[in-house]
Amino acid sequence: MIDSVNPIRRRMMLALAALAAAGRPARAAAGGIRQAAGKSDKAYIERAFEMRQHAIASGDQAFGAVVVRDGVIVGQAPSRVVTAGDPTAHAEMEAIRDAARRLGGRDLGGCTLYSSSPPCPMCEAAAYWAGIGDMVYGRDATRAGTQRLCG
Ligand SMILES: [Zn+2]
Repeated sequence: MIDSVNPIRRRMMLALAALAAAGRPARAAAGGIRQAAGKSDKAYIERAFEMRQHAIASGDQAFGAVVVRDGVIVGQAPSRVVTAGDPTAHAEMEAIRDAARRLGGRDLGGCTLYSSSPPCPMCEAAAYWAGIGDMVYGRDATRAGTQRLCG
């Protein structure tokens, strides 16, 4: 059906569809995620530590992470390095993948990554590529600031 529309109109329709996907509210993407008790760094870090507990309970490495946009948890994961047999399945990578899936795209601009420990260079680079604006880690909710691609 869309092929029968003239090319300019078709391009406009596709652009509008892309805009609609980009502007998809965080709340809609959060379906199935139990939200944190509050809307503070401490509350999101608490959830990252819950993910860490899941990792430990499943016999994986003791790490957890969540991704938050507009005060809504849109991605969360424990480490799956051991259970998935994937050396790149760090909690942060898995949380970024979860958020991208739920938000329907690779642009995680406006999101903050919370992790139970300081992110490693691979995860920091992944956050960079995803456009994540901020990172917070550890029990004290230390702000890591804008991530860098290398070092
Ligand atoms: Zn990592």
